[in-house]
Amino acid sequence: MTIHDRVTRTSSAVVGSTDDIVRRAGAVPPLDGFPTLDDLWRHFARLERENPGLVSSRRVATSRLGEPIHAYSIGSGSRDHLIVGGVHPNEPIGSWTAIHLAETLCADGDLRTALDATWHIVPSIDPDGGRLNEGWFADPGDRGHYARRFYRPAPDEQVEWTFPTSYKDAYFDRVMPETLGLMRLIDELRPDLYVSLHNGEMGGVYYYLSRPVPELTEVLHAVPASFGLPLDTGEPESPFLERYAPAVFGTGTIADAYDYLESLGVDPALEIAGSSSSEYASRHGTLGVVAELPYWKHPDADDGSPTDESYADLLRRTGGEMTATGEALVDLLARAEPLLTFESPFLRASRAFVPMLVRMGAVDRARAASPESARPATVAERFSCEDLVHCFRLRYGGMLLRAVEAEAVAGTATAPLRRLVDETAVLYAAWQAEAAAADRAEVIPISSLVGVQYGAVLAAAAHLAAGDTAGNATGPAPR
Ligand SMILES: [Zn+2]
Repeated sequence: MTIHDRVTRTSSAVVGSTDDIVRRAGAVPPLDGFPTLDDLWRHFARLERENPGLVSSRRVATSRLGEPIHAYSIGSGSRDHLIVGGVHPNEPIGSWTAIHLAETLCADGDLRTALDATWHIVPSIDPDGGRLNEGWFADPGDRGHYARRFYRPAPDEQVEWTFPTSYKDAYFDRVMPETLGLMRLIDELRPDLYVSLHNGEMGGVYYYLSRPVPELTEVLHAVPASFGLPLDTGEPESPFLERYAPAVFGTGTIADAYDYLESLGVDPALEIAGSSSSEYASRHGTLGVVAELPYWKHPDADDGSPTDESYADLLRRTGGEMTATGEALVDLLARAEPLLTFESPFLRASRAFVPMLVRMGAVDRARAASPESARPATVAERFSCEDLVHCFRLRYGGMLLRAVEAEAVAGTATAPLRRLVDETAVLYAAWQAEAAAADRAEVIPISSLVGVQYGAVLAAAAHLAAGDTAGNATGPAPR
């Protein structure tokens, strides 16, 4: 059965109204796990076969490991909307969102007409990275299982963050073939709407917009509320980001990030590589939209009440834990390096992320010294800061473990390296136990997550269909 067989069309609400979008979001059928890359390709190939004249595809890039990457175009409306999955290959909620969006657009002529767009969907722009996460796709609810099979590329191998940068001392042009394909597609389509399909991990729902669109706030809050999902009102992912509304942030630019880090006395060149896809697309006046969704919801994520700890003390405490985590992994990696015989994506990622944890802790301790930090921390902030330590221990400890284990699996591990694999596994098990002990989270049904992301796409498209051309008039000049 395809998803659209089960979509109900019963309401008379105006297409694109908040009620209509809440109803459509709620009609996503129950979903099990996440599709593998081959499953994803099969869904889209079948959709094209079953909808001749409505769906067409073309190759837009080739992955570094030689896999063709396709874009599927649906409909023939007057705007061009570009939806891209796999920008972070560890974030697969968007795979179902892409499938559901495509199937619904094919099945619902009224929706296509009302939104008046030609939709271009790239189901995954990073199949190589996606395949390295497939070990947890069938059972995404268990955080330990998930983290142990997790893969996030090093920053300079993430499609999302490998667009060209040139700002002060930050310069980046090592664009990967996947990113180059997406750059060409963005420049060819000059899309009105660009949605990169991301997701978070733990807590609540939040969004990024490339420019303020106050008209979207109501629906962006209403859809998660309709599923009983909290907004994430704790720590923003980056402290310099502009907050447009609760849990709605500006995407920000590399220049913003650079200037912020510089103001803290941190060397920005160390932390900054490429620019984001959304910043790149903004040269065309494109509205960029990201819906960040957790697999697990947590009651503290949206709790603004004060704790008895100051925000400064919280930053010092969790920043110290982050640095200690990084230092433990730096030590393991340094001892492993001379024993390793081959480069794996896990090793490249570890080399990038492990020292980053040390520096992240230092940034938080620098932030603690600022006068604005002398206030009580909220429950949501305490949760964000504490959970980030667990999240990064599990993610990056897990990837370092995969890096050293790969040698044991390949039969190239010397006796000292095998002992180091065991030592890493013991530390990792302790971190898993600590994270599990702190865990009061609840697994969210995947259909609700897809509903929220799908709802955000429809809401933005409906807003543009209603005539917002602000971006085309005022979008930033190309850099
Ligand atoms: Zn992401």
